[in-house]
Amino acid sequence: MPSNHFSRREFLKRNSLTGLGVVLTPSLVAKTVEHTTTAPPFSLAEPPALMGGKPVRTKAWPTWPIWKPETDEKQLLEVIRSGVWSRAAVVTEFEAKWAETVGAKRSLAVVNGTNALITALMQLDIRGGDEVLVPPYTFIGTVAPVIATGAMPVFVDVDPETFQMDPAKIEAKITPRTKAIIPVHILGLPANMPSILAIAKKHNLVVIEDACQAHMAEINRQKVGTFGDAGCFSFQNSKNLAIGEAGAIVSNNDLFMDKCFSYHNYGNPFGMASGVIGAGTIIQGNKQRITEYQAAIGLAQLKRLDAETTLRNENAAYLKAKIEKIPGIVPYKLYGNVTRAAFHLFPFRYKKEGFKGLSRDTFLKALSAEGIPCSKGYATLNNMPYLNDAFQSKNFRQLYPKAQLDFKNYVERNHCPQNDRLCNEEAVWFTQNMLLGTKADMDEIANAIEKIYTHADKLLSVK
Ligand SMILES: *Cc1c(COP(=O)(O)O)cnc(C)c1O
Repeated sequence: MPSNHFSRREFLKRNSLTGLGVVLTPSLVAKTVEHTTTAPPFSLAEPPALMGGKPVRTKAWPTWPIWKPETDEKQLLEVIRSGVWSRAAVVTEFEAKWAETVGAKRSLAVVNGTNALITALMQLDIRGGDEVLVPPYTFIGTVAPVIATGAMPVFVDVDPETFQMDPAKIEAKITPRTKAIIPVHILGLPANMPSILAIAKKHNLVVIEDACQAHMAEINRQKVGTFGDAGCFSFQNSKNLAIGEAGAIVSNNDLFMDKCFSYHNYGNPFGMASGVIGAGTIIQGNKQRITEYQAAIGLAQLKRLDAETTLRNENAAYLKAKIEKIPGIVPYKLYGNVTRAAFHLFPFRYKKEGFKGLSRDTFLKALSAEGIPCSKGYATLNNMPYLNDAFQSKNFRQLYPKAQLDFKNYVERNHCPQNDRLCNEEAVWFTQNMLLGTKADMDEIANAIEKIYTHADKLLSVK
């Protein structure tokens, strides 16, 4: 038997810590996925798993979120037992640590990333009738906040090599109504901030970074979220810093942060956003506060974020170098000034010409069957019914000329062909938790893609 074959006993030993039950019902605490340092034996001659062959991988992937009772529970239990559950010292501690982590003067924790964006937009005075430039290659959580303020989202097409808003396409979209740009560091890869900031400066536009997927990503050693007027983060369950639900705004501007704080607490006085004594509630507010136990979970997760980010960067670079040799696989590009990415997702473009014309859908099915979870990612956000719903609303009808609310015309004006190609034909993603595995895990991803490449002609017959 070749030396890299496991005996059955060794196989059981290696996998006993995982156990089938754990794989089927992942438990947060009992989870211990054992990772081998070398990929198991693999043969390109084996038929694709989608056609009945042996899958390249059968092991579980690292699960997410991570919870380690030994290190993570002390402060959380203290908070729960204290009975102080509403915003107090632990939230303030989390905000200070988050500001320090990203290198911003201030941070404010709010209920989620969506409301971080709404709060930032409103306190930078983006309101009904304004136009806000956004990329179409993003999560709805970027665009819904723009509409919530009554402003009009205007879509700027993406650079397909980086998946980010293309600075070269921004100026053509600027009108006298344009007030802000929301660059999104989508997939955790930094957007081209130097170019975007230069355009914003020239046209006097507010810049709000959507860094909801880009915790600790850097351009020239400066963390994203700190380049614009405000940076917004999400700590939703899937994000690289997971609390379940929560978000944060960061900025160096004290007056702006005081106003955000006030807004997130009903508009009550805070710092420079203060009325005279006894004035009561002073600005139009909302309630966006997070709880003490959410902050305690965040502080526990924050201790691991740097090491996890390093591991994701190492594995992403290793995987990229392996799969970019396969014809038809074009991994993400980072801009030259990027010193670190967050890799909330690992993206590549799938060119079916390299795979004998095999459709992306069948490629994804075949890759999943090999034990490699994957997705085609976002659908086009610039032509969905939510936009027309907003245009039909009383607010929008009172704010905008009728011609601007013609949905068919809007969709034409906001056509983004590069984004269409990414969404409808080419993009493929792996999720960030997979990048927390070993080099052997990355080898298995590359092996599975190579196997599908080798058998592409046979897979063409799969419906
Ligand atoms: C997750 C996300 C949001 C919204 O954050 P929530 O905490 O889920 O509200 C906004 N923009 C992007 C790009 C996101 O990925």
